[in-house]
Order: sequence, then C-alpha cells, then structure tokens
Amino acid sequence: MTALIETKNLRKEFVLDGGGRLEAIAGASIAVNDKEFVCLLGPSGCGKSTWLRIVAGLESATAGEVLYKGAPVTGPGKERGMVFQEYSLLPWRTVADNVSLGPEFAGMDAKSRRDIAMDYLERVGLEKFADAKPHELSGGMRQRAALLRTYLCSEGAALLDEPFSALDALTKASIHRWYLEVMEQIELSTLFITHDIDEAILLSDRIYLLSGKPGHITAELNLHKESRPKGDFALTSQFLEYKKEILSLLQL
Ligand code: ADP
Ligand code: MG
Repeated sequence: MTALIETKNLRKEFVLDGGGRLEAIAGASIAVNDKEFVCLLGPSGCGKSTWLRIVAGLESATAGEVLYKGAPVTGPGKERGMVFQEYSLLPWRTVADNVSLGPEFAGMDAKSRRDIAMDYLERVGLEKFADAKPHELSGGMRQRAALLRTYLCSEGAALLDEPFSALDALTKASIHRWYLEVMEQIELSTLFITHDIDEAILLSDRIYLLSGKPGHITAELNLHKESRPKGDFALTSQFLEYKKEILSLLQL
C-alpha cells in the first residue's frame, strides 16, 4: 500500500548569511498512512518545523524525496493544509469565514459555505463565535477554529506545527480532550510535531523520536490503541508505560 505522505532520506542544509552551512536534517525517512495520526517528537531545534515545511512544499529539500500518494511534492497544495503555533487565522475575517475558506476556494456559494461552517462550528461547540473576529477569541478557541479550518480545507492530510504549545497548561488539557472528540467526527491523516511527550502519547497512533544537530530519527513507536482514546487515557498505566519507554529512548 502506498503511504499518503512519505519522506525518503530527507536532507536539509541551510546556507547561512556568513556563507557557512547548517545541516538541519540528516537523511531521514518517515511515512504517514491514510487516517493515521503520526507525530514527530523531539527537542527544540532538531528540525521539526523545517521537516513539516518541506512536506507542505513551503521549503525545498537539499536531498531526498517527499511524496504524496507516491508522487513528488513540488509546492504547496490543498491536500496538505498546515496549522502553525500561532497566527493561523486571517485576522480580518470572521470565524465562520475563516473556517469555510477551503469551500470558498473550491467555488462554493456563500449560503452553502455558511451552512457548512455552522454545521462544523456547532459540532465542536464554537457556533456562538461564528461572527466574531479571531482577536475576540481566547488563544484556545483560536486554535480550535484554525484546526477546524485546516480539516475543512484539506483534502488529504493536516500538517500541525506545535498548534497547542503556546497555550497554558489547563487550556492545553481541555483542547486535547476536545481534539480527541473532534477526531472521532473528522477523520483525517495528520502529521503533527511537538516537543511535548504527554501530548504525543495522547494524540498519536505512531511516534517518530527525533534527535538534533542534525535532526535524525532515533526510534519509532507504534502505540497500539484499540480505539481513539479519550482525555483520561493520560491516567492509564498504558500511558505511563509509553512515557517510560520514550523517556528511556530519549535518555532523559
Ligand atoms: P524545531 O522546529 O525542531 O525547533 P527548526 O526546524 O525550526 O527546529 O530548526 C532546525 C535547525 O535549523 C535550527 O538549528 C535552526 O536554527 C535552523 N534553521 C531553521 N530555519 C532556518 C533558516 N531559514 N536559515 C538558517 N537556519 C535555519
Ligand atoms: Mg519548530
């Protein structure tokens, strides 16, 4: 079976202003299968954002391949929508108009777009904020709307660059619960990056552990979850087992 997203022997070297070179990623291969939630987990500076930007087609690789359904990625595409740590919504548009950006680009009329946006906003409990502007929302709500927009825009995979890391711990815990509920309704393949071990275990089906300087994969973990876990998965012994394993693999 062809994976949805693959990077094969991906290498990235930046040419610095002074003329020196910085090796950010040193030849690494990953795959994301259909409907899978895959995480790249590693410390700051190990090349995660660079990796995701290359998969998004926003940055070119120095060597290696990036494939989407087996075909080379040559630039950004609507089958690979991205959410950043902050600033993923258009500030001049309402929440509903942000969420329905994908259908709008696809040429859908205003009434149908509104209906779709309201339907999804209701499903995720954001309907009261349909006509608010992003700056009127809390950070947590902004990221919920940004995730929803990406899932509605994207026809294949969502690429999430630490979308929860700017949130305070309590907001983060509540958005994790929310996310797991939403995931049951909107199944989409996801490549997610984070430096948060708990978050990676809670949300992922599979985790690649990365080390830095230059970025490379040190281990791959398959989290055998019988079904999509709920928020209280974090209180189970299975969760702790995974955490122990990751901490020892990361030599922390
Ligand atoms: P992470 O997301 O894991 O924190 P990044 O992908 O942002 O890591 O960065 C990986 C390495 O590449 C870092 O050492 C960073 O300084 C360097 N880097 C990232 N972008 C650039 C760039 N545009 N020019 C030069 N160096 C860069
Ligand atoms: Mg980053």
